[in-house]
Formats: sequence, C-alpha cells, structure tokens
Amino acid sequence: AIEIRKLRKSFGDNEVLKGIDLTVRHGEVVCVVGPSGSGKSTLLRSVNMLETPSGGEILIEGVDVLDPDVDIDRVRTRIGMVFQQFNLFPHMTVMRNLTIAQERVLRRSRTEAQKVARDMLERVGLAEKADAHPGHLSGGQQQRVAIARSLCMNPDMMLFDEPTSALDPELVGEVLEVMRRLASTGMTMMVVTHEMGFAREVGDRLIFMDDGVIVEEGVPAEILANPQHGRTQAFLSKVL
Ligand code: ATP
Ligand code: MG
Repeated sequence: AIEIRKLRKSFGDNEVLKGIDLTVRHGEVVCVVGPSGSGKSTLLRSVNMLETPSGGEILIEGVDVLDPDVDIDRVRTRIGMVFQQFNLFPHMTVMRNLTIAQERVLRRSRTEAQKVARDMLERVGLAEKADAHPGHLSGGQQQRVAIARSLCMNPDMMLFDEPTSALDPELVGEVLEVMRRLASTGMTMMVVTHEMGFAREVGDRLIFMDDGVIVEEGVPAEILANPQHGRTQAFLSKVL
C-alpha cells in the first residue's frame, strides 16, 4: 500500500502540494485528474522519491521513505514509473532496454533477464519487436515497451504520469488496453490521466486535484456523473 499523510511540497515560495492525504491499497487503481499545474506530477514524483517533500509522510508497504536510514534505491525498485515521454534508450534494442536494469540493479544473469524480458514483451503484445530499436517503433509501441521494461523489475506498484498524452489518438487505445490488463492482474496503480473513459472503467477511485489539494474523491462513475464541487464541475465540463 501507499500511505500519504499531510504531504507538502514547495518549490521556493511556491507551495504546490498543500497537505495531501491519500491511501492506495493493494490492488487498487487510483486515477488522478485535475488542471495543469495542480500538482499531479509532483504528487507522483514524491511517491517515487524523485521529489523530496517539504513536509508530511509517505509510507510504502509500511516503510517511511523519508526516514534517512531507509535504503531509498531499494524501495524505488519496487515502484515502476511510466512517463508521458517513453524514455527508452534509443541506441539499444528493445531487448537490451528491458534487460539492462535487471542485470545491473537486480543482478540477474543475462539469460534470466532475457527470459523475463520475453515474457513481458509477450504480455504487451510486442514479442516480435525484441531486436528492433525504439526509433523504428510507433509511439504506442514505444510506450508498451516502456511498460514492459518497468514490469521486468517485478514492481509491487506502478505509477503512470499521463502515459498516453504524447500519443497520436489512434495509438492511445493499445496502451490503455495494456494498462487495463495490468490492472486486472491486481497491480496497485496510480494513474494521472485525461482519459476519463479509462478512469471510469478501470479506476477503483478517482481523485480530483486542484491547486495542490484533493478537492474531491470517490467512485469514478459517480464523480464523473455527479461532481459535488464547483471546481470539479468546471474541470469536467472542459474535458468530457
Ligand atoms: P500538468 O497537467 O501540466 O502536467 P501537474 O498537475 O502535473 O500539471 P506539476 O507538474 O505537479 O503539475 O506542477 C505543479 C506546480 O509546481 C506548477 O506550478 C509547476 O510550475 C511547479 N513545479 C513543478 N516542478 C517544479 C520544479 N522542479 N521547480 C519549480 N517549480 C516546479
Ligand atoms: Mg504533470
């Protein structure tokens, strides 16, 4: 589980997270929506320790990640993250993109790493692309490779920050389908997205953020059909 308590984050005197309380339980899919600049990425990046909070607590599987005695690299290998930009290594084959961290971080043998990589490529429907370079793949295929690469590390949970926002519209569906299947395997997921259909169908909970706070949260279908707050209503009227 991910337990976030009274989380604050400032950049200089700009406070962008103003006390976030959120628990993501095992196997839960939490979708995070909200206007640009509301703090969604900062929240996700804080969970993965890419940002250092200014205050509050984050517990990952009960471990306080802000405790200086905690081995943060070890916690981080349990959390997969997928970004809008796929961040694949362009000069390496798909297979090498999937094996390098397994070998260097998890100390798996090349044979073992390649076996895991083939399994994960199979899962995202790209078994035949192992020897391709990322530049020869479509954006949707590259993002599926990025998801497979994360899964190779056996994460306990996955964070997605607008994974389909950089894609041409016709490529969005194949990435959402991979995420939907991942959710159905019981993966714990936090997903920042503008895809309200995905949030409604796959999300267990929808969080609406604005100006560094959670304004509203609940069952996605209920919030989308009947938002309670003016700020949620205003946002949804623009994106739906
Ligand atoms: P978007 O939908 O555009 O991705 P977001 O909800 O993800 O927006 P954040 O990226 O979390 O928003 O940014 C929240 C605020 O924090 C913004 O005002 C942004 O300018 C500021 N911010 C984010 N990262 C930094 C940084 N590294 N240094 C300074 N300010 C930052
Ligand atoms: Mg963002």
